[in-house]
Amino acid sequence: MGSVTVRYFCYGCLFTSATWTVLLFVYFNFSEVTQPLKNVPIKGSGPHGPFPKKFYPRFTRSPSQVLESQFKANKIDDVVDNHIEDPEKGNMKFSSELGMIFNERDQELRDLGYQKHAFNMLISNRLGYHRDVPDTRNAACKDKSYPTDLPVASVVICFYNEALSALLRTVHSVLDRTPARLLHEIILVDDDSDFDDLKGELDEYIQKYIPGKIKIIRNTKREGLIRGRMIGAAHATGEVLVFLDSHCEVNVMWLQPLLAAIQEDGQTVVCPVIDIISADTLAYSSSPVVRGGFNWGLHFKWDLVPLAELGGPEGATTPIKSPTMAGGLFAMNRNYFNELGQYDSGMDIWGGENLEISFRIWMCGGKLFIIPCSRVGHIFRKRRPYGSPEGQDTMTHNSLRLAHVWLDEYKEQYFSLRPDLRTRSYGNISERVELRKKLDCKSFKWYLDNIYPEMQISGPNAKPQQPIFVNRGPKRPKVLQRGRLYHLQTNKCLVAQGRPSQKGGLVVLKACDYRDASQNSDQQLRFGLLQVLGSQELKALYDCGILELGKIGIRTLSSVQSVWIYNEEHELVLNNLLCLDMSETRSSDPPRLMKCHGSGGSQQWTFGRNNRLYQVSVGQCLGVVDPLSHRGSVAMAICDGSSSQQWHLEG
Ligand code: UDP
Ligand code: MN
Repeated sequence: MGSVTVRYFCYGCLFTSATWTVLLFVYFNFSEVTQPLKNVPIKGSGPHGPFPKKFYPRFTRSPSQVLESQFKANKIDDVVDNHIEDPEKGNMKFSSELGMIFNERDQELRDLGYQKHAFNMLISNRLGYHRDVPDTRNAACKDKSYPTDLPVASVVICFYNEALSALLRTVHSVLDRTPARLLHEIILVDDDSDFDDLKGELDEYIQKYIPGKIKIIRNTKREGLIRGRMIGAAHATGEVLVFLDSHCEVNVMWLQPLLAAIQEDGQTVVCPVIDIISADTLAYSSSPVVRGGFNWGLHFKWDLVPLAELGGPEGATTPIKSPTMAGGLFAMNRNYFNELGQYDSGMDIWGGENLEISFRIWMCGGKLFIIPCSRVGHIFRKRRPYGSPEGQDTMTHNSLRLAHVWLDEYKEQYFSLRPDLRTRSYGNISERVELRKKLDCKSFKWYLDNIYPEMQISGPNAKPQQPIFVNRGPKRPKVLQRGRLYHLQTNKCLVAQGRPSQKGGLVVLKACDYRDASQNSDQQLRFGLLQVLGSQELKALYDCGILELGKIGIRTLSSVQSVWIYNEEHELVLNNLLCLDMSETRSSDPPRLMKCHGSGGSQQWTFGRNNRLYQVSVGQCLGVVDPLSHRGSVAMAICDGSSSQQWHLEG
């Protein structure tokens, strides 16, 4: 009897502890995922949430706190512990995880930034005011030396509703990478911006941290960048004027080559090579050396440099003669700027002034060059985030003015494309016509014949245009990893919901396909692939040599449904066909399979700490909506480190 009691007592204990074990197991494994995935603030108490402190850089702070810390002009190194992603690409002090969204505040800041500035302000703020950028110059530039008695420069930066962090990074990059003796001053022209931080906070910052060389001029009404630059230039006292946009980062030794060219010839206007700062990731990358052109719609365009112009006496460091300039970034002698008639003050807000000054330079005795050894990064946005005060199309107004002053009979080319503009009024241009006479400028025909002979003239005698195709070229990005993409928590695999070749198709979690048949028959292979791919795609795979009949077996066949390649472009390519893509404009939509475009952004993924799979352009992590559901739906969500966001790519 006694032993029976003891036995039941033991069973009782065992039962209780087993129940507890199961309960604890269920709690620890599933507690995080019972939260809805979208917009979940980081759980946990205290300022640092549930992860070890070192995991949190300063991301849990509010935007203003982030700014505050940058106020102390900290380096980016301690904002995120930067691991070198790909040293060959040169983004040393820059992490592609800088855009990761950890909480609702991050999400708001990012969304607000896109809305107000059309670039990723969350990353811009986290990046701080100083960062190293890769030296993108040709190696030959690094051996060049410049005279010690170069003229001094006034850098003029106009801004309208700029993100404070981008503006201050522009200013600091100039201060950090320009010898003090060459930098006479920086003139900031606030074009009547609306944002508070561009007022008192900016003044205070400058007074406190960078007093001395910086002047701020505040327009009392919106003037636009054209009159804005004229106002800045009127306040400048340096020998050379350098104009920059308010979202630039100058590179090493950027100014000396510009000043040297101007010193040699005071009627030479020079532009740096404009490197690309991505609006989505703020990654800095090198631009090819191209030159400026235009089309008959009077839009600026980039042209390849004709062979005859390449490789002059100084090889890759030779200045490149450029028919036009892009507009935002250039340097010229200040007296020459004034003699040449500054800008057309009848032009409003934005547009056309770059072609106008380019034509004027060449037609009135000056020269315009791109200096390959000078490089300045510029944030290229997909849209201009501001309009003109009354919603006018200032580009058209300004282009009309320049057509009537400078194009002579060639304005017909413009009007034949825009017949509606023939009778459109464009204000008074008499002063500019007078200027052209006074400067004794050559004809537009002379300009076309001598400076831009590549320009096509339409009409009965026109030569057909040679299309230039720029594509990704034959080089495929190097494969870094290949295999199934496992979701660790459910041990399922990420696969296409429908046919893997279906553009726009969704991806879902399914039980991994481990079939490992030992047979190897072409017939079965073909049949199996047909089920998966359809005949067109199968043919395409054979055609481009990805598949060879008889050389791959059934194992390849079964896994062909879900083989991901992760490559050096940070793309996730399914079955060598389509890329996992997350449209920035539809961040609430799940990711889809799209044609690989090779330009990062929506197709750029990073495997990060905690096995997370981070999407660079939306700043969120891939997660499973409901890990217990058989539907296996996935979605992007705030990176909360939960087990539903853990992935592993394995062969
Ligand atoms: N800008 C200005 N006033 C305006 C419009 C623009 O001062 O009404 C500034 C703007 O902040 C930037 C520069 O002029 O620093 C060039 O404008 P933007 O960068 O928008 O031109 P994009 O680079 O898109 O051609
Ligand atoms: Mn710009």
